[in-house]
Amino acid sequence: MYDALTARYTFACPARGDARVTLSAFRSLERLPAASHPAVYRVRFACPCGDEHVGLVGHDDLDWAPLGLSSVPFLNVMTARLDAAEDLAALAAQRIGAGEWPWTFFCYPEERPRPVYPSAFCMLAPGDRSLGVAVRCPACHKVSVNLVTHAHVDLPWHHDREVGVVPHVFADDAARLVEEFQAELYSSGFDARRLSLE
Ligand SMILES: [Zn+2]
Ligand SMILES: [Zn+2]
Repeated sequence: MYDALTARYTFACPARGDARVTLSAFRSLERLPAASHPAVYRVRFACPCGDEHVGLVGHDDLDWAPLGLSSVPFLNVMTARLDAAEDLAALAAQRIGAGEWPWTFFCYPEERPRPVYPSAFCMLAPGDRSLGVAVRCPACHKVSVNLVTHAHVDLPWHHDREVGVVPHVFADDAARLVEEFQAELYSSGFDARRLSLE
């Protein structure tokens, strides 16, 4: 499902069979209402074939696999040997424990950066060289829209020093959120905010 070597998720593509896409190719994420554990997310993604398709991702694959936190051994490209996943898990835990978060965003209603996981992303839209991301804050549950680089989303622990923030408090209901996201992303100005969590 997730390949840590290429930072890509594998989905089914009706035209090509398999589609391997990065997190930044996701266009929307929606947690399925079924009370399954772990949770399952319905993802709409931009496929290399030119179409958008829908796929399902488990919570573990979404949030933990990019950190190497899976039961699958990980090929270390430096040593060309299979490392135990536990080594990576320990390393990830150590970094998070030291306050280095794999993903962050700027919460507009709270006017502060917050740590986050990919399951908090609701919508993504590509721009010129950047990506608009709607994130539901795990602390205040409000949605903020940030303008970031693709790497900021695709690579854990890769943070933009500064992000664009849409100065708008977004709607809570899903339908209006989609409308507002599209309207604000392409019309309004962005305020620059530093993302340092210190
Ligand atoms: Zn496709
Ligand atoms: Zn918040």
